[in-house]
Amino acid sequence: MTQTPTQLSGWGAYLRALCRYETAETPEDVAVRLDLGGSIARGLGRSYGDPALNAGGQVLGMQRLDRYLGFDAASGILECEAGVSLSQIISDFTPRGFFPMITPGTRYVTIGGCIANDVHGKAHHVDGSFNTCVESMRVLLADGRVVHASRSEHADLFWASFGGMGLLGVVLSATIRLRKIETAYFRKRSIKVASLDAMLDALEENDQRFPYSVAYVDPFARAARLGRGILTVGDHARLSELPPSLAKQHLAVSGDPKWKVPIELPEITLNPLSMRAVNEVLKWKLSGSAPFEHYEMFFYPLDWVAEWNRAYGRRGFTQYQFVIPFEDGRRSMREILEAIVSSDQLPFLNVLKRMGPEAPGQLSFPRAGYTFAIDFPIRSGTGELLQRLDRMVLDAGGRIYLGKDAFVDAAMFRAMYPRLPEWLAIKAKYDPGNVFVSDLARRVGLVPGTVDAARVRASTRATNPVRAPEPLGA
Ligand SMILES: Cc1cc2nc3c(=O)[nH]c(=O)nc-3n(C[C@H](O)[C@H](O)[C@H](O)COP(=O)(O)OP(=O)(O)OC[C@H]3O[C@@H](n4cnc5c(N)ncnc54)[C@H](O)[C@@H]3O)c2cc1C
Repeated sequence: MTQTPTQLSGWGAYLRALCRYETAETPEDVAVRLDLGGSIARGLGRSYGDPALNAGGQVLGMQRLDRYLGFDAASGILECEAGVSLSQIISDFTPRGFFPMITPGTRYVTIGGCIANDVHGKAHHVDGSFNTCVESMRVLLADGRVVHASRSEHADLFWASFGGMGLLGVVLSATIRLRKIETAYFRKRSIKVASLDAMLDALEENDQRFPYSVAYVDPFARAARLGRGILTVGDHARLSELPPSLAKQHLAVSGDPKWKVPIELPEITLNPLSMRAVNEVLKWKLSGSAPFEHYEMFFYPLDWVAEWNRAYGRRGFTQYQFVIPFEDGRRSMREILEAIVSSDQLPFLNVLKRMGPEAPGQLSFPRAGYTFAIDFPIRSGTGELLQRLDRMVLDAGGRIYLGKDAFVDAAMFRAMYPRLPEWLAIKAKYDPGNVFVSDLARRVGLVPGTVDAARVRASTRATNPVRAPEPLGA
């Protein structure tokens, strides 16, 4: 049993904490190792902030719970342990004509992590978030019981787990539905759009016709050109549509990244000049006119370089993602974008899209409206800008995404998630002693009465080297 404190971080590498990190090998091992004094599960550490950190306490690594427990090829129903990653599922099932039903923008995420954040993908307006493909899950509770949760059994636990940030119990395994596909390729169109209004119009129009849509907004465009960018839309390609060169290997899977950022780069590497250059390359790449694209580029353009987060340097970065309702959303989106591009920060990679209706989970992030996610390297003033944005998002009736967040405080979180008291009642029912706890939970008030800012602050920004978040095959 490893007991030495290990410094862990989220993907943004901004919040860091010394934790007792242990890796569980089997579901039984999870129960044996679980520290009743305070513990949190960790998948592949792809959340940007602190949901999988527990300063001074236990963090249970789940990635070795990676066994398949059953598969029905007729229905596409897969039962697997919670540490199975989407990358693993793609490698093993895409050659057989199946793909994850819902996928975020990286395949290096576990099923447990996808449930805890109720992750969404480019087709949220059609498919909803991860809960829609989960039939059931087995959850280890704080009192040692393992319960089966589904829409009909322990339904309160089932729904509250989506967006529940691992704070109700450890998901040991889940039964999920995979998507039947004919090919590993997408029919794709890229559309250059000149302004924010035109972009929101284009998104609305294309969302009626394509299940997958996402826009990149030029973070250097101002005034009348604010919001200009490239909208990419697409759908699964059928075998009969592919040219012979692709049809030969229509279910080809990609391997692990061949490139890796070896060290945290010096901050000087990221400056307005270098970012403008990368922005130009990105726009050129996104506007490519090839009609078919492999899933790797279509869904996971960032996965081709392992540990790319190190490019942001020692201070790390954060991703600010929010969703605001459609009503009056255009005006609010313009104001928020203006605040971002006119700030003295270095806004960079970003994604704009429309979301469909919200899910039953009280803390599930997606809701009908516009969502925008944008990376900021951490600099002095980043926190102040995000606080300003939080207020604008709240005024617009929106909320931020905990899977990306590293800054929001308990009062703001409560205001953005009005169903928090309902979720806390479910937490009190299944984990009355607050065994499941994390730095995020203390920061935003997901563990009643334990918001301990001093402890969180003391544990972060330590200076010893960060243990890498164990990317697959990197
Ligand atoms: C490049 C990139 C692109 C991304 N794109 C998107 C996107 O498009 N849409 C989106 O929604 N998200 C996106 N994300 C965020 C990512 O999908 C989520 O943060 C996801 O939850 C990470 O999964 P993980 O296995 O790494 O979990 P971790 O980050 O390790 O943990 C996340 C949460 O899951 C909990 N958890 C993990 N395993 C278990 C378990 N077995 N039982 C209970 N709780 C558990 C942890 O306690 C924690 O609260 C992106 C992240 C990156 C780095």
